Amino acid sequence: PGIVSAYASEAERDAEVSVRPKRLADFIAQHRVRDQLDLLLRGAMGRGAPPDHILLSGPPGLGKTTLANIVAAELGVGIRVTSGPAIERSGDLAAIVTSLAEGDVLFIDEIHRIAKPAEELLYSAMEDFRVDVVVGKGPGATAIPLDVEPFTLVGATTRSGLLTGPMRDRFGFTAHLDFYSSDDLRTLLHRSARILGVPITEEGAAEIAGRSRGTPRIANRLLRRVRDFAEVRADGVVSLETAKAALQVYDVDGLGLDRLDRAVLTALVESFRGGPVGLSTLAVAVGEQPDTVEEVCEPFLVRAGLLARTPRGRVATEAAWQHLGRTPPNGTFG
Ligand code: ADP
Repeated sequence: PGIVSAYASEAERDAEVSVRPKRLADFIAQHRVRDQLDLLLRGAMGRGAPPDHILLSGPPGLGKTTLANIVAAELGVGIRVTSGPAIERSGDLAAIVTSLAEGDVLFIDEIHRIAKPAEELLYSAMEDFRVDVVVGKGPGATAIPLDVEPFTLVGATTRSGLLTGPMRDRFGFTAHLDFYSSDDLRTLLHRSARILGVPITEEGAAEIAGRSRGTPRIANRLLRRVRDFAEVRADGVVSLETAKAALQVYDVDGLGLDRLDRAVLTALVESFRGGPVGLSTLAVAVGEQPDTVEEVCEPFLVRAGLLARTPRGRVATEAAWQHLGRTPPNGTFG
């Protein structure tokens, strides 16, 4: 993934562990979600029973995995982590849920990608704490009911619209995580810098926050890259100057756009006079898969007000022309 991708590689997930907040009180911003979760968890603990199943939705890198771990820590229970794509057969899921200890948290990332037969098994596990495991094939097949200890499912999804109705209905608590403000990301950066032992100035934190696309994962990643630069080419302090110089090396511009984002906007503006142009045509113009352009670039470009999706295709907004330092032709955008 690129430097401003909201997705993490395996190696990066390891790097993230050290700065990951462990308790609800350390989780920055998202006050409403925090408050609601606090009530849910305290209520359940007061009754000595596991809380309702929890669905967390929102773009990648905003803290869903972190919150799942926090839920387990606050409840003082174990956590089992898996993901929708990893559960291909219902047997995979049966093995996982029957091995849970009482009260455990089961975290399923990308839960919208779980295979259909496994999803149906999950329903009965969630609702009745029971699963029927089918043994054998054809007429001789028998269903063996197995008990499951009461547990709390924490499901995470970047595409809540893709969840089936029955799945959604089985969550007693749903929270949507939203992009973070620059102020919140500044706070987050100061916290991460403290944990990493990196000196950072107010201006340095503000500069990185402003280029982090509202996403904690990106903020932490840019901090690590600016730290490299500061240590290797400067005095080790993450300041306005080192942040600017480092982010230039990494091709992250003032709005947090990377090379591919800019390529998309530039193609729109230069090759298609601002659009409208179809997604696949645009993708070919920048040499990328349509999926990558649609899922990686566009959400942020749309949110930043640089690109609009219209029924006739993608359109560069006036702000996009300005960001590229060009004058929009009259009346071709909007
Ligand atoms: P997701 O599961 O939504 O993709 P993660 O929970 O893995 O996102 O978060 C990505 C990184 O951002 C983690 O390393 C975590 O430390 C950090 N992070 C996310 N949200 C917060 C927050 N509210 N406060 C502090 N750090 C956060």
